[in-house]
Amino acid sequence: MTLAKRVQQLPPYLFVGISRTIAEKKAQGIDVVDFGIGDPDIPTPDAVLEALDAASRKPANHRYPESEGLPQFRRAVTDWYQRRFGVKLDHESEAMNLIGAKEGIGHAALCFIDPGGTALIPDPAYPVYSIGTMFAGGESHYLPLLEENGWLVDFREVDSAAAKRASVMWLNYPNNPTGGVAPLKFFDEAVEFARQFGLYLLHDACYTEVTFDGYKAPSILQATGAREMSMEFHSLSKTANMTGWRVGMAVGNSEMVNALMRVKSNLDSGLSQAIQEMGIAALNLDPHWVAENSEKYRRRRDKLVAGLRGAGLRPESPKAGLYVWSPVPAAYTSAAFAELLLDDLNIVVTPGTGYGPAGEGYVRLSLTTPDHRVEEGLRRLAGWNIPAPNSAG
Ligand SMILES: *Cc1c(COP(=O)(O)O)cnc(C)c1O
Repeated sequence: MTLAKRVQQLPPYLFVGISRTIAEKKAQGIDVVDFGIGDPDIPTPDAVLEALDAASRKPANHRYPESEGLPQFRRAVTDWYQRRFGVKLDHESEAMNLIGAKEGIGHAALCFIDPGGTALIPDPAYPVYSIGTMFAGGESHYLPLLEENGWLVDFREVDSAAAKRASVMWLNYPNNPTGGVAPLKFFDEAVEFARQFGLYLLHDACYTEVTFDGYKAPSILQATGAREMSMEFHSLSKTANMTGWRVGMAVGNSEMVNALMRVKSNLDSGLSQAIQEMGIAALNLDPHWVAENSEKYRRRRDKLVAGLRGAGLRPESPKAGLYVWSPVPAAYTSAAFAELLLDDLNIVVTPGTGYGPAGEGYVRLSLTTPDHRVEEGLRRLAGWNIPAPNSAG
């Protein structure tokens, strides 16, 4: 017996080594400060939980949901798009629900990539774009995101042979892990590029509602002509601290939405209707709640960036998202520096290479760490002198 190649080809789980070390340290009673995972520690708001209480009592919600989602959910999504981005969508043909954005992102590969096909994928990036591509039998062609380009894809630098081979391009702004943000003009360029090469354009917009310093993130659907070939993925995980509930949505080009719905209806039986009702409540949260939620992460960002700079690192202060992306000191690799922080300070960060080869030279720190743990991490960084790599042992 042999496992399918797609399983054999899976890269080892990013955190295997680190997880083992953390477990060993914890077993020894060592207090580890974890900036690794991006999973909001702040609870889901009461208004959303109350919607679940009521929805759980409705017998209609005890039965199979429709694959595409409740009409009320889809309408809440399109109403929100109209209010938030000024984008008018048809709730029946241009919006659907997902069991978390990750699920839709993974399954989208099955809609737009044939075996032997190519996907253009940013590097570094959320790993699901390339894993989904591999599951669909396709190849990932990486588009490096560079600090000097503000972490935006430089379309002039994309290999045109690869672009001609490709059927699809992934983008993600506000970006995980770099913290990069895209102006609407960039989305116009992306649409133009997609049109030139006949690409489906998939945009992961999970962080548009976690923004700082007055920054407001656009939707790719605001770009001229985007609806001809674009689909956008959203999630309530980060917007409303709902990672545990699994609610996301895909919107945009109706043929693309329909393709994803058809694939999904053959693989899953939709998202629990009671949870869709939570989603409706989350989409209707007072914008002040959303702003205050971002404000909590903004305070952590400021402290963490200051603490890292105090230790001699040079992170940018991100305008959006849940991560600080910090260059590592010269002569360290991402992995070696992450290991140093773990050995010297019992602090966990994620090596940038976990998000692709262009992540070399960076580590990612998550802002979903509770305030008192951020403080503890900062206490450890204060007064720490980064040793020269050869003395790091
Ligand atoms: C968290 C995250 C997701 C996944 O969101 P879910 O709705 O929880 O599945 C998707 N894309 C990026 C870039 C993320 O960071």
